[in-house]
Amino acid sequence: MPTATAEFIVIGAGIAGASVAWRLAPAGHVVLLEAEHRPGYHSTGRSAAMFDRAYGNATIRALTAASYEFFVNPAALGLDASLLSPRGVLYVARPDQRAQLERHYESIRTLAPDARLHDGDFARGKAPILREGLFDRCIWDPTCADIDVARLHDALLAHVRRQGAEFARHAQVDRIERTGTGWRVHAADRTYEAPVVVNAAGAWADEVAQLAGLSPLGLQPRRRSIAVVQLPESMDPRGWPLTIDLAETWYFKGEAGRLLVSPADAVDTAPCDASVDDEVLAAGIARFEAATTVEVRRVTSSWAGLRSVFRDIQTAPAVSALVAATALGRPAADSALLEQTSASRLL
Ligand SMILES: Cc1cc2nc3c(=O)[nH]c(=O)nc-3n(C[C@H](O)[C@H](O)[C@H](O)COP(=O)(O)OP(=O)(O)OC[C@H]3O[C@@H](n4cnc5c(N)ncnc54)[C@H](O)[C@@H]3O)c2cc1C
Repeated sequence: MPTATAEFIVIGAGIAGASVAWRLAPAGHVVLLEAEHRPGYHSTGRSAAMFDRAYGNATIRALTAASYEFFVNPAALGLDASLLSPRGVLYVARPDQRAQLERHYESIRTLAPDARLHDGDFARGKAPILREGLFDRCIWDPTCADIDVARLHDALLAHVRRQGAEFARHAQVDRIERTGTGWRVHAADRTYEAPVVVNAAGAWADEVAQLAGLSPLGLQPRRRSIAVVQLPESMDPRGWPLTIDLAETWYFKGEAGRLLVSPADAVDTAPCDASVDDEVLAAGIARFEAATTVEVRRVTSSWAGLRSVFRDIQTAPAVSALVAATALGRPAADSALLEQTSASRLL
């Protein structure tokens, strides 16, 4: 088969690759290569889908804040309604975690300006299943929201295709070579050449870098799992916020008639099709039960996925803008943000 040429090859069609491909497509022919049959098969389709300004380190928070406008006004994608639906987040703290809570509050105030400190009664008013007397302080940020990840991802890929990009599934990149002017990439039975290759391979990003003869950055995939817990009919969790204990040893979020509970696990794992470790899930559910009045009788389903840079969905609009500027050799619109975004600050 003849070699296909393009201006840009993007490896991986999760939220990161789809966002970058969408930003690059107006500037030249893009080839988007995805190993799986379905582009959201790995982390992008397995997340808790939260937008939380108070989450992560300073770099993640800066990227999250810089992504907000895109999520609420995705007109550039032809979408007329916000991709965020309000939920709110509670970070709850025991009396012995008070100093840590106050430090966390001070560190997030600038980028999460609506966040406020409250007492334990406020927390129980928002999330009535919290055990009485256990948590005496909380941070409440009403701007935390659910992201409609499927709508975002589908719209990005639809635009990419409409702009004439080639999107290949079942196209696992297994060899990358330098050419005089750029790169030759082998995927399945095809060969592609382009001056610029973007590595958006998620948990496999270091492996793909090594295929190209580059040094790995040390992107360590970590497994995180979620259990879907059936609640008694008398409980309606729809208005409950995302609720996280300050040390992040569990979190929960309500949906109609059911609760998503995560042990907030972060277990180092080789890149793979991640699956739940039953013991880790059971231990996480026990921590959740100790913190709440819920007795988990039935887990209706569960899943696990890999995270390497924490929260790439809520940061994807800003990160893809920085990556596209770099790929195009243009100055980033937000150079201060670019400076803050070196890999060492993300990890
Ligand atoms: C349980 C859980 C909860 C989470 N909750 C949140 C949250 O609330 N908010 C948030 O913002 N983030 C959350 N995250 C993190 C978020 O899901 C990920 O950071 C994000 O989806 C990563 O996107 P990605 O495109 O980098 O990776 P992926 O979606 O994994 O995409 C990478 C793609 O690259 C492809 N690929 C790999 N190697 C090759 C190759 N050699 N050739 C071709 N293709 C290749 C893979 O098949 C894959 O489709 C959560 C993650 C988990 C697991």
